[in-house]
Amino acid sequence: MAVFKPEKESLYAETLDSLTAKLTEQGLPSFRAGQIMDWLYRKGAKDFDSMSNLPLSVRKWLADSFCIMPAQMVLAKAAGDVTEKLLLELEDGSYIETVILRAPEGDEAEDGARQTLCVSSQVGCAYGCKFCASGLDGWKRNLLASEIIAQVMTAAAHIAEQRGGEQARTLSGIDNIVFMGMGEPLANFDNVVRAVEILHAQWGLGLGARRITISTSGIAPQILKLAEVPVQFRLAVSLHGATNEVRGAIMPVNKAYPLEVLVPAIKKFAQTRGRMVTLEYILIEDVNDALSHAAALADITRELHAHVNLIPYNPVPNLPWKRPNYRRQKAFAEVLSRAKVSFTIRRQKGDDIDAACGQLRLRMEKERTA
Ligand code: SF4
Repeated sequence: MAVFKPEKESLYAETLDSLTAKLTEQGLPSFRAGQIMDWLYRKGAKDFDSMSNLPLSVRKWLADSFCIMPAQMVLAKAAGDVTEKLLLELEDGSYIETVILRAPEGDEAEDGARQTLCVSSQVGCAYGCKFCASGLDGWKRNLLASEIIAQVMTAAAHIAEQRGGEQARTLSGIDNIVFMGMGEPLANFDNVVRAVEILHAQWGLGLGARRITISTSGIAPQILKLAEVPVQFRLAVSLHGATNEVRGAIMPVNKAYPLEVLVPAIKKFAQTRGRMVTLEYILIEDVNDALSHAAALADITRELHAHVNLIPYNPVPNLPWKRPNYRRQKAFAEVLSRAKVSFTIRRQKGDDIDAACGQLRLRMEKERTA
């Protein structure tokens, strides 16, 4: 496995405990860890010199040992006023994508438009789902926890700038964070779980656990392991096929973890956590959108007491798949409705900005090598 070692670790990878231990090792007072976290996540500090209540000795040690931001935003591309995709370049020249999804009109939170941030967990992806742009170039490496947090901090700063410069609070109105960008989060388990801890902790970004969603293509043993993580985030499973035949044809992961292995793992997770799991189902014309597929999906969903997100497919250049027309989408949804399954049809966003995960990054990689 390619493990990336940065020249200097980013402070965004530290938890309060790990930073406290490092300070103690240096003979520096442990209470400085809380002050440093405060600078990072309450005040949004971008350099060590601005950490004015820290003595020079601590600031020097920080500057010698760490960097803060391990990524640089190289492009921001918006589609109307609902979706904006950010392209970030990492220290080793890799590109990753982060997407800001804004709630459509009429679906707003009390304090303004609801914003969801979709973060990447790997550079590329090894799982090769047939309908996805992220897997087209294969897997390059796992993201560090700091590179996941960097996506959040970059997006928050970008939103704050759009709102007139002043960052009222560090998250700048980001209401939800979903691990649904490039990569399979559970194949980068430790870094993702560490990032979730930093997102949720009071000393970190303080985001409510239910506002964090981890999405997986269905790595059954990792789902069971995830059930033991204390933070009560939400889990979404990319099902996309309700029979082994359909799922196996579009998701290679189904060979290792077919439905008879995956479904019990999801059930165990839901029972352990006492939480409803979401099943993601991309509707692809003539692949998984028949009424018999809807009936099979209804059976699985009822067994799991889950919720279904139906997502009409977002076409990817060079891939043959199509989005079913509205009539087919409606007929599929009606089967779920009649079966009294809890579901929503997700509104399509960002068609004109390469919004399917991995598309913008692929285009940038191609332009660089052209
Ligand atoms: S859908 Fe997710 S798991 Fe599948 S190839 Fe794309 S990024 Fe990887």
